[in-house]
Amino acid sequence: MLLAENPARCILIVGGPGSGKGRLCERLVAHCGVSHVSCGDMLRQEVQADTPLGREVSGIMQRGELVSSDLIVTLLRRRMRAFPGKRLLLDGFPRSEQNAKDFESQCGVPELALHLKCTDEKMVERILRRGQLENRADDNPETAARRLRVYHDSSAPTLAWLEARGVPIVELDCNGTQENVWSQLLAIGRLMRGAVAV
Ligand code: UDP
Ligand code: MG
Repeated sequence: MLLAENPARCILIVGGPGSGKGRLCERLVAHCGVSHVSCGDMLRQEVQADTPLGREVSGIMQRGELVSSDLIVTLLRRRMRAFPGKRLLLDGFPRSEQNAKDFESQCGVPELALHLKCTDEKMVERILRRGQLENRADDNPETAARRLRVYHDSSAPTLAWLEARGVPIVELDCNGTQENVWSQLLAIGRLMRGAVAV
């Protein structure tokens, strides 16, 4: 069954670990009046609060693997109820083709996906830098390597499935600065407005 009569309108933010999903979302929230749900943060909150769900997922996250699709979609759906009719950024979701399928059947078709593309070198560099600043259990060289492998194995089929379902996918080169990524988005926005005006 679909989420209520007034579901949130979702923009998927997809990209490898350290590709800049969280930073871009912060900026979109500040400038575009959208809301933001980070799936990784939701899971980390469960781990921190030591809930049964948190205990179930902490080992999986520490190894850099994916939690079950049922679990993350249920959690996401529950959180989305707080944003009826809102435009909502789903940061770090979907991670797998199964995630994308489960989301569509429970919450409807997303509006758009932003795909943040980055070289492995860049992603590893950022993860290890973040590991020194924050205290994330998975920001270490071994888990980073596993997270990258999981991303490479699952992102192509996930994006292919979304594309086949008619979800527009915008690719962004995220190797440069946050400023550079932002200007790519602005340029696309201008282009689209121009196209509509013609
Ligand atoms: N995760 C998951 N499914 C999701 C989102 C996150 O299994 O839909 C888990 C997975 O173990 C992942 C971790 O949560 O490695 C951290 O996700 P986050 O998006 O915070 O990591 P990032 O890619 O931003 O570094
Ligand atoms: Mg993140």
